[in-house]
Amino acid sequence: MSTLSLLRSQLLGYADGHVTPLPGHTGVHVHREIVQPLQQLINDAKQAGFQLQVASGFRHFDRQLLIWNDKCSGKRAILDDSGDVIDINSLSAIEKVYAILRWSALPGASRHHWGTDIDIYDAAAMPRDYQLQLHPDEYMGDGLFAPMMEWLDSYLQQESVPRFFRPYLQDKGGVSPELWHLSYRPIADRYEQQYSLALLQDYLSSLLPMGKVTAQSSKVHLEEQSVILEHLSTIYQRFIYL
Ligand SMILES: [Zn+2]
Repeated sequence: MSTLSLLRSQLLGYADGHVTPLPGHTGVHVHREIVQPLQQLINDAKQAGFQLQVASGFRHFDRQLLIWNDKCSGKRAILDDSGDVIDINSLSAIEKVYAILRWSALPGASRHHWGTDIDIYDAAAMPRDYQLQLHPDEYMGDGLFAPMMEWLDSYLQQESVPRFFRPYLQDKGGVSPELWHLSYRPIADRYEQQYSLALLQDYLSSLLPMGKVTAQSSKVHLEEQSVILEHLSTIYQRFIYL
């Protein structure tokens, strides 16, 4: 594979040669260049009394596509800001797309595709049998993970610590604020600089629309493809933080 097409496949999430299993975790893969800084972060958190664990790291395009298609077709719930389930039948196609984008990335446009981004929680603060939600209430106020977030806020401001940052910290009306989402800047910046609307548009256009699904192509159809492509530049500005 040429360097260009390798980079393209990493940007869009359909390559996984650059990721490696994260020690101490089951089923979590990350970019191999973030393993060392991430372990330093985990160790530093441990010194401060937290058991920082990664709930999600690298996510393949196919996985994001499955989540997207399940939400579009009603197989998986779409939630509003209060965490209540939205009745998708009451929404137009574009309203549905925007409702999903509040919590889930468009396939091909997730920072998790790069392996540089992770979702974290404090395993030490979690009661037995607790089901992790990745919801703001868990990370703010008197939430379970608020103490670790408070520690992280000041930790990340120090000079000599690994350069993680939170790309979805402020609610800009697009993606819901994700306090749990960290990105490793030195590597993620390289991907950010190469990413573009044209790249995403080109790839999403190449997927099959609904109704043309065959047994061989069942993995590569994109629900609401035409509406997405029609509004892609607005979606890109509001939801894709690159
Ligand atoms: Zn995330």
